[in-house]
Amino acid sequence: MLPIVARRLFHLQELALGRPSFRILAELLESERWSPERLRQLRLERLQTMVRSAYDHTPYWRELMKTQGFTPEDIRCLDDLRRFPLLEKNTLRERREEMVWRDEGKRLQLVRTSGSTNEALQFYTSSTREAQINAARMRGHEWVGVRRGEKELYYWGSPVELCKQDRIKRVRDWLINDGLTNGFEVTPERLRKNYGDWLAWGPKCIFGYPSTFVLTVTMAESLGLNLKELRNRGLSVIITTSEMLSDVDRKLIADGFGVPVRDSYGLREAGLIGHECEHGTMHCMDEQIILETIDPETLEPTEGEGELVVTNLVGPAFPVIRYRTGDIVTLSQEPCACGRTLSSIKISGGRAVEFVVTKAGKWVVGYSFIYIARSVPGIVKFQVVQEKLGEIFIRLAVDERFPADGIELVKKKAAQRLGGDDEIHVEIVADIAPARSGKYRPVISKVAEELYKKRSFTD
Ligand SMILES: [Zn+2]
Repeated sequence: MLPIVARRLFHLQELALGRPSFRILAELLESERWSPERLRQLRLERLQTMVRSAYDHTPYWRELMKTQGFTPEDIRCLDDLRRFPLLEKNTLRERREEMVWRDEGKRLQLVRTSGSTNEALQFYTSSTREAQINAARMRGHEWVGVRRGEKELYYWGSPVELCKQDRIKRVRDWLINDGLTNGFEVTPERLRKNYGDWLAWGPKCIFGYPSTFVLTVTMAESLGLNLKELRNRGLSVIITTSEMLSDVDRKLIADGFGVPVRDSYGLREAGLIGHECEHGTMHCMDEQIILETIDPETLEPTEGEGELVVTNLVGPAFPVIRYRTGDIVTLSQEPCACGRTLSSIKISGGRAVEFVVTKAGKWVVGYSFIYIARSVPGIVKFQVVQEKLGEIFIRLAVDERFPADGIELVKKKAAQRLGGDDEIHVEIVADIAPARSGKYRPVISKVAEELYKKRSFTD
């Protein structure tokens, strides 16, 4: 599809879904160069409007403000935000139904976070909020030279079986120049095929998880596939998301594909938080969010470095105010060579995702187990552990919604996903403790670690 036509079709799709994403994009491309004072004024106005509507339309926030002894009128400067207590994940989980404004915007939906780093979480979103996120994402891509309508390949996960809706989505994606390659289960055979498909389609940008790119580059090398060929077919940038991108991995991916790697950072429940510009600075979406840092032990505010706390200014259907993310970051106001006045963020706490390897030599991305955890109710946390080849343990922490045949269901779905005769054990545990680093690891595989060290990939 011609980029200009694809862009137009995407625009129409957004309007049909009640999302003025392109209008917001145009605004964002202006405000990113405003003076700090003007930007601060916009954020204060948005904060005041958001707090007002939270008070007027949601019992949880109204009750909270009353208990804390203040009203929306008391929010007079950005620092007044600190009158709100921190919002814990558990509160969001337990009081969700009292936090939603059901009549806001269009297409109110209950959605779920990936739950890869923390326990999966459900929250509400609406057309208003989705339009803001789509616009912010489009702006980030424009910063690194990719305009909506140009060919973007999502190296991503996909469900085990395609339903009718997925098929319709495939056609729609083709019309708007979005491609999809399954990046959840990488095998040498599939990589050869994907490589051929990518050369034929010629994406301008590939978007996916750092771990999948690292595996792809390493495997391609051992198979003799030259990923740099994709440059001749138009590839100009790799954009990563969802996991910690280390400097070592960034270099490995950039060397493998021969194009720059740009990172982005978002949390489904809080919005898109940062996107790297052409100079490699990760700028914050200051028009849409307010970021703070705290000491994770004492919960006292810190100057720049600490646990990230997010307030979303543009999602009135489900206000998220002073939400503790659990991610460790450094915030900065230092100017960037690109001239944008937005602040910037560096992520220092890892969000590493790993693989399990099947007897048949298939590398299955940890994220793919999220689809399984999502499809069975009542799974609060999960962890996949692989000590030796051919044997996989899935641990689940569940609540009362978990069905009687839940274990069998998980086993069946995991077998489908792994697609071999690997032994799968599913057990219910009281809780899943984080690793010593304090980070929750969804997948721990000694097998994958050892094979990866030896670069041992078999067909
Ligand atoms: Zn910049």
